[in-house]
This record gives sequence, C-alpha cells and structure tokens, in this order.
Amino acid sequence: MTPEEKAVLKAVDHYSDEILNLTCKLVREPSTLQNEASVVTVMENELTSLGYSPVRIPIDPEKLENHPGFAPVDWEYRKNDGRDNLVAVIKAAGSEGRSALFNGHLDVVSPEPLSYWSSPPYEPVSQDGWIFGRGAGDMKSGIAAMVYAAKAVERAGLGLGADLTLETVLEEECCGNGALACLYAGYDADAVLIPEPFGPTVLTSQVGVLWFRIEVSGKPRHVLEAGVGSNAIEKCFPLIQSLRNLEEELNHSHVPEEYKDFSHPLNLNVGIIRGGDWPSTVAAFAGFDCRMSFFPGMSFDKIKEVIIRTIAKSAQKDPWLRLNPPRTTFFGFRSEGHTISQDTPALSMLSKCHKDIAGEPADKYIATCTTDLRAFMSFGKGQATCFGPVAERIHAENEKVNIESIIHTARVYALFLSRWCGLCS
Ligand SMILES: [Zn+2]
Repeated sequence: MTPEEKAVLKAVDHYSDEILNLTCKLVREPSTLQNEASVVTVMENELTSLGYSPVRIPIDPEKLENHPGFAPVDWEYRKNDGRDNLVAVIKAAGSEGRSALFNGHLDVVSPEPLSYWSSPPYEPVSQDGWIFGRGAGDMKSGIAAMVYAAKAVERAGLGLGADLTLETVLEEECCGNGALACLYAGYDADAVLIPEPFGPTVLTSQVGVLWFRIEVSGKPRHVLEAGVGSNAIEKCFPLIQSLRNLEEELNHSHVPEEYKDFSHPLNLNVGIIRGGDWPSTVAAFAGFDCRMSFFPGMSFDKIKEVIIRTIAKSAQKDPWLRLNPPRTTFFGFRSEGHTISQDTPALSMLSKCHKDIAGEPADKYIATCTTDLRAFMSFGKGQATCFGPVAERIHAENEKVNIESIIHTARVYALFLSRWCGLCS
C-alpha cells in the first residue's frame, strides 16, 4: 500500500462517526414506495453540505417508456413530487484514470407487521456492534459508506484521476426504473459499485426477476346456492399450484454452471392476495401478485411467454376458467439476469483491495435475487458489481447491519477509488 493510499484509509477512519450518523439519519426517514421525498431531501442536504452539487433526476415515463429496460408500473409518476434520484459528479483532478460510479438505493420495503419488531423500525438503535432499523442494511449504511469513501480522498488532500459519480436512486425494490433513469440521463462509468448488504463479496451473477398479476372473475351467489356460483378465490388455488410446478421445472432446466450448487436457486413468491367482499357471498373477484425469478440467459419475453402459457394451460382444466380465462399482466420488475467474470478488471481490483485490507481475497457471490446492477449490465458499460456491509434479516423484522462491516466497506471503496481512478495531488 502506498503512503497516499494509507492516508486515504486513515481519512475513512476519521469519518467513522459521520458514516454511522448518516446511516441513522437516513433510517429515520420511512422511505417506502411513494414516500421517499423526505429521505431524498436529507440526502440532498448531506451531499450539499459535503461540498457536492447533487442534481435531481426524476423518473420520467415520457422519456423512458420506449426504453427496453423501462418497467411499466401501476402507480403514477407525478412531476415535482420530490421523489427523485440524486446524482453528484466529483470532477477529476487529473486526466489519467478510469471513471467510477457508486450507486445506492434509498427506497426500503415495508416493515409490516410492526408488532414483530423489538423496537420501532424507523428509530435506529445501535447495540452490540449492530445498527437495527428498516433500511439500515438494505441499504442506507452502504450509501453512507460510499459517500464518505469519496470524501476521504479529499480529506487526505488528494484528488482523483477520473470523474466519480455518487448516485442515490429510488424504486430498486420494485422495478429498477430509478437507476435506469440516471443511466438514461447519461450517468455511467468505467466501473460501477453498489454497496448492497451481501457482505464483503464480489457479485458475479444475479438471476432475472419479474413481477406479474393474475386476476380471476367468479360468479357471485348467496352461499345458500353456492353450487351454482363460481368462487374466484378458490379458482386461484390450482393456478398457484401450476406456477409452483413451473418453478420446479425452471429450477431443473438449463441450469447455468454458477447455479449448479444451489438446491433451489429460483423462487416463486406469491406476495399479495386479494379477493371477495363478503363472507356469505361466493367471491366474484380474486387476484394475486407474484415475484418469479429466472436464470441468466433467459430473456424477459421468454419467461413472460412461459408464464402466460402455464396459466392458460391450467385454466383449460377448469370448466369455469376455460370460459372465463384469468387475466395475466406484467408490472414492476422485468429484470434479466447476468453473469460477469471475476477476472474483469474492476472486479479483480475490488477483490484485491479487500484482500489488502482484510488479508484474504473476497469470495464471489452468486445472487438469487436482482439488484440495480441490471441497468448497468444490460444497458451500460457493464463492469459492475456489488460489495457491501454485512446485514441480517433484510426485508424482515429487526433488520440489522454490522457496524464494523460498514466501515470496512467504506475503506475498500476508498482504496478502490485510489487505484481505479488514480490519486493525484
Ligand atoms: Zn437492496
């Protein structure tokens, strides 16, 4: 390690408190879907107070709707509602180096049911080396780490040889339109790092993910003549079973090398169910929303066609559904999977940076979920990976992130900047 690199790491350590404070500040904003305006303001103020000039990039469907990566959603995008992505470019101090971009998402998933939590999800608690709170791990601590990794270079009295872009985005948890909007606005780099809380690992594969909705009409009757009605809720059961069978089939066909060691890499989740309106009325309507994953190499159009076919085939077996076919719509995630070699320059350099600090090379991480890497891998320059803090119970109650691992993430990001972009005085 050079004396300059050591100075940068020392500067990261100097910012430890700031990193943890920013994590807590961000956790305090309950930034679930459509409620992100306040966290964006907090982040914007933080970036501004650090001397950066963040720009707001809204998700504008008028601009994006013809982009192959744009996911149609069933909520509205309103102008000037404060739900913006933020981008701050730190200009190069030199002219020789490779550019970098750090991306983190500010949106979180719902903490419900609140009664499962030991303490309120938006009141961060620091205990035994961990910070508890919704979004503490996924991924507000990572954002704090990446911002102060950049700041540490400056504190060490140095500049970077190429531009660094700090980017915080929305809608990572539902579609990826936030990261896509920033990419579409022209923000990309030679290397992209995302501090998702998968720990100190280098992500080399992620699966594709899509969301879809099945809706079924029934025939309402008073229960006293239920025999002549058709219960839409019960009509969903065989449809769900057919999707479960499809899940099994997909898990065992065309399995890419990277996923061969997993017993069940692809998962179907029936996440929402709705239907009926009265205990004594045969349900006239029912529907459910699902998340399904698919292997890298399969296109969104292909998996979409497979799901439509599965539902149609299942409906054929039921006399009512044969005449009243279920409706299948696709909204939110339509992210294809990808695989990238661990030997790609940015990934191997990141692994080396971890090794020089932690003493051992970073493991590779094969993800059974999707992340915003999708935008950069499918539509950008394509040297992108995740490396981040250690968290537990993300998307569940009592989410927590390990404090030491947050600081480690900041140190590795700072060292990566020093070497990838290059330092100049
Ligand atoms: Zn995340």
